[in-house]
Amino acid sequence: MSNSLAGNQGRLWAISEISKRVPRVVPSMEGGKVSELFGSNTFNEKVMSDKLPRSIYKELTRTIRQGEKLNPAIANEVAHAVKEWALDKGADHFCHWFQPHTGLTAEKHDAFLTFSDQGHPIDRFSGSQLIQSEPDASSFPSGGMRATFEARGYTAWDPSSPIFIMDGPNGKTLCIPSVFISYHGQALDKKTPLLRSMEYLSDQALRVLKIFGNTTATRVVPTLGPEQEYFLIDQAFATLRPDLVTAGRTLIGAKPPKGQELEDHYFGSIKGRILAFMQEAEHELYKLGIPVKTRHNEVAPSQYESAPIFEEVNVATDHNQITMEVFRQVSRRHGLTLLLHEKPFAGINGSGKHNNWSMQDSDGNNLLDPGETPKENLQFLVFLVATMKAVSDRANMLRAAIASSGNDHRLGANEAPPAIISVFLGEHLSAILDSIESGAAKGETAEQKVINLGISKLPEVARDNTDRNRTSPFAFTGNKFEFRAVASSATTSTAMATLNAAVGEALSEIADSIEARKAKNGDLNKAFIEVIREVVVATKAIRFEGNNYADEWTAEAERRGLPNLRTTPDALAQLRTKAATEFFTKTGMLSEEELEARFHIETERYIKDIEIEISALRDIVKTMVLPAAFKHQTIIADAVKNLSELGVSKHAVKAQIAEVENVAGLIADLKTELESLDAAVAAAESDDIEHKADVLANKVFPALASVREVCDKIEETVDDTLWPLPKYREMLFLL
Ligand code: ADP
Ligand code: MG
Repeated sequence: MSNSLAGNQGRLWAISEISKRVPRVVPSMEGGKVSELFGSNTFNEKVMSDKLPRSIYKELTRTIRQGEKLNPAIANEVAHAVKEWALDKGADHFCHWFQPHTGLTAEKHDAFLTFSDQGHPIDRFSGSQLIQSEPDASSFPSGGMRATFEARGYTAWDPSSPIFIMDGPNGKTLCIPSVFISYHGQALDKKTPLLRSMEYLSDQALRVLKIFGNTTATRVVPTLGPEQEYFLIDQAFATLRPDLVTAGRTLIGAKPPKGQELEDHYFGSIKGRILAFMQEAEHELYKLGIPVKTRHNEVAPSQYESAPIFEEVNVATDHNQITMEVFRQVSRRHGLTLLLHEKPFAGINGSGKHNNWSMQDSDGNNLLDPGETPKENLQFLVFLVATMKAVSDRANMLRAAIASSGNDHRLGANEAPPAIISVFLGEHLSAILDSIESGAAKGETAEQKVINLGISKLPEVARDNTDRNRTSPFAFTGNKFEFRAVASSATTSTAMATLNAAVGEALSEIADSIEARKAKNGDLNKAFIEVIREVVVATKAIRFEGNNYADEWTAEAERRGLPNLRTTPDALAQLRTKAATEFFTKTGMLSEEELEARFHIETERYIKDIEIEISALRDIVKTMVLPAAFKHQTIIADAVKNLSELGVSKHAVKAQIAEVENVAGLIADLKTELESLDAAVAAAESDDIEHKADVLANKVFPALASVREVCDKIEETVDDTLWPLPKYREMLFLL
């Protein structure tokens, strides 16, 4: 298309396209209550109760609530009901919808169409088709597990996440949320470890609840509300940027005259075309039972945020995956391009995904919400310090869980939480923990202590905790923690599974400790306070209330002995430690083999990301930047030649020769930087992927930045009519 247009013709075309665009109106969306629309494309409890015989309905809902596997005996009846419902809705295909290690979702569609024995066409969907499918696993990353075992993989229905119907332009597809496992039962996906981590956390949390005398809870579920940040730019611009098309981020681009310094975008009024997109996307999400709640402009120009109401972590994770996909599809209908990359534009804030996380028991109590009674507050403190202990003990695993080439741009930049994992609690809560640590006067009973330490004031304290520290990677925000360092384009499953497992582990150790103390002196309250105190002391180093962006914090963290794993390879190397094997196998989240596979998959992914960036950048430099620079140079050089021939004063000619020299110098610099990049790339060549990734991170990554720096100077120098790539000032501000 317009890529072939010379000079700035492409940009002019894009600007003229954009000037014609108007907000897209979808007549079918008019009127209608969201509460009626909500979940209309899901096989939800109401549909189940309408369509299924009572006994089957009961068994199915119990299975779902308890997070159990489906009894195969009822599969056929469930499948029949699902089929009837889907056909009524107009679906003609079905698929098992799963989350392989690509970080995206995968689906293979099959028609309901079959032929009867008499050769008549019929719609068929059996129990076994509902429960299991067998996609060819060989084209999904398996991190070597495929080589050792068979290529075959199975998808199995995960009843804990609702079945849904995805609307397509010309038909509808029934989607069955599934796990993806190998013939020998290894997880080939990102969901299985998440489900395992939930089970582990539930068991350990229930142990602690029982110690507190809870007799009614049967399950504890982590909850998640992911705040999704994203950019939207006009599609016409995006198609003219080979870097956006292939790498999802701009690899070059000079800073616009105005960036985000006026701070006029955050919470600003939402432009018509963007609002039209948001409304249509949310409409689609409501049908799918996804409770999107909040929308607003973010800090950077053309950056936005969407947040749902929290749900159980596995469902919230599925829903976030669907949200990203629906956003992508709907954005196209509006002539927009969705950028989920963590750092699409240099010099401007990148995107993250704040993971609001808590734990809830089966009676609906939020375990990170302080209660009204001292006992409830002690329980709250136990779960609070367990989370702190988890972050303290497993900081490296959490860091590895959020590692990606895109996130490397954010963690460490002065706009996002740094790669150092610390916890923010807020002033008042910190004060309470400090007083627990220093211990109150001797001779007090445990009961008095609870009062004297201010534990009874916790509800007000927590409510008061209006998160004033936006720089912390892991902040307590009143009744939940917010894990802020998660990448915007990533699935939430890895970060959340790791957190669940780590908190489960901490709870299990805390339960052991309380039980041992209670056995010794019989006083439960005393045991609680002692254990809380012990954990408060042990986790002191990870508590940080100050500015996480400041250089002083990096130095302070180093003094405290906190790890600072700056790059993805550094973070992923943690997965190969003894500590990692112990953690993942003990908690059951990953087997040793799966852990090794994960290391391979993620390292290879990192390598591929950088390799794509290398070739995209080389391509842009050679076919766009250099030609523009040469043309510009020729124009000035010719002009100078003319001047000399005309006999213009030496002084004037000299000034203009300096201009030519400037451009020629930039071209020379660019050549030099390209050679350095080539040398760095050559140094990275290795069969050892760990070594390769290291060189990419430490040599190639900086070399890419140096090439970029010269390109940006050239962009600021050459004649605007020669520049083929949409500029930041256009992409970020024209809509
Ligand atoms: P803020 O915008 O100040 O960070 P909000 O109250 O708007 O805080 O919450 C942000 C996200 O946190 C929302 O997705 C919300 O549903 C979610 N959230 C609230 N309570 C919980 C909880 N108990 N567990 C998990 N997420 C929660
Ligand atoms: Mg928030």
